[in-house]
Amino acid sequence: MAELNPFDIACEQLDDCAKILNLNEDVREMLKSPMRELHVSIPVRMDDGRTKVFKGFRVQYNDAKGPTKGGIRFHPEETIDTVRALAAWMTWKCSLMDLPLGGGKGGVICNPKELSENELERLSRGYIDMIWQFMGPNKDVPAPDVYTTPQVMAWMMDEYSKITGSNEFGCITGKPICVGGSCGRDDATARGGMFTIREAAKELGIDLSKATVAIQGYGNAGSNAAILCRDLFGSKVVAISDSQGGIYNKDGLDIELACSVKKDTCTVVNFPKDETQKISNQELLELDVDILISAALENVITKENAPYIKAKIIAELANGPTTPEADEILFEKGVHIIPDFLCNAGGVTVSYFEMVQNIDRYCWDVEEVRKRLDERMTRAYHSVLETSRAYNINMRQAAYVVAVNRVVEAMKIRGWIKFS
Ligand code: NAD
Repeated sequence: MAELNPFDIACEQLDDCAKILNLNEDVREMLKSPMRELHVSIPVRMDDGRTKVFKGFRVQYNDAKGPTKGGIRFHPEETIDTVRALAAWMTWKCSLMDLPLGGGKGGVICNPKELSENELERLSRGYIDMIWQFMGPNKDVPAPDVYTTPQVMAWMMDEYSKITGSNEFGCITGKPICVGGSCGRDDATARGGMFTIREAAKELGIDLSKATVAIQGYGNAGSNAAILCRDLFGSKVVAISDSQGGIYNKDGLDIELACSVKKDTCTVVNFPKDETQKISNQELLELDVDILISAALENVITKENAPYIKAKIIAELANGPTTPEADEILFEKGVHIIPDFLCNAGGVTVSYFEMVQNIDRYCWDVEEVRKRLDERMTRAYHSVLETSRAYNINMRQAAYVVAVNRVVEAMKIRGWIKFS
């Protein structure tokens, strides 16, 4: 089951890129090894008076290009392998977007749904108590991820500020706006993905105002993607899904209604029946649509279903949705994949804007944020497309080539390696 270990997949993708770039074995080893991993035990006083110990991690994968950057997940099934893989992907993502940042990621094994608000606050502060010496605006800057919210970021920033004795707003991003957060962060991941879809559609000659769209996952990334597909392009979103299943309407779904059904009942499958039909997540992936957006989990597009995928564009808002074997099948079929660390880079790009605004103690308006995001995403998309054409490789390999090249260049200039 090596296919399902995220860090094995990250290493496999890196090996593939190292061959294309002809990197020697020493450089490959450095790129496949996280530079620093912290394993912590966080004692938290629970509401009933007991003290419970939670395990946590912070991986600083590579900081050749600047302070490491990456989210913190609170999840009951968190593993060091997942955190490591996500930290590697953050390194390539920041590099691909040409941000002056390296890549990192953190996680705590816990079920936030079982914690009271006070316990969650003590856990958030406890995590910072354990890692504060290793983080900071010039070292490592965390952000929200699965089950961590702007409120959690505010507690963490406050704890770091208390320990260091100064208001360090720039030590963490994804904060509420009133304590140094950035406008435009809420839908930045989906919006950034839209800019890459717009560019891909131009290249493939797809008229987005007539395009059909299916979206797997209807959380932050997926629901914002549905709204923006409609509002920015006038595309028809015909199918959406979540962990309980999906819904389909060939004439297009009422996005507002879907959002309120999801909000009220926690799933889109309770959408009124007369207007739609229920479908499985598997059926959604294989629909005859122009654009398939994955916005749920890793490893959902596999060698088993890839032959049946009919979309012309797959936009990977989720991290790691496509296995390497499926990648090959889809490339052969001519499906245009916008790979995860390009497609979903809008979130970290606006996080970087938040760091810049914190350093300047200034607040850009939302138009400014969106304009700068569009410029960065468009530039990154075209650098990947040009590289894929120049080397005759697929878009994921091309994204790796652009990103890894920049990290290797930085390692060379800093004197970490003498040749590549
Ligand atoms: P979320 O928790 O808000 O939403 C996830 C959605 O996926 C939910 O609707 C959930 O019901 C659905 N889901 C869960 N299991 C499923 C399954 N088996 N089949 C179909 N749907 C399923 O999370 P999110 O923030 O929207 O993130 C989604 C993906 O996008 C993740 O891979 C995440 O790493 C990636 N991502 C998110 C951001 C961001 O800023 N939100 C940034 C970069 C990458």
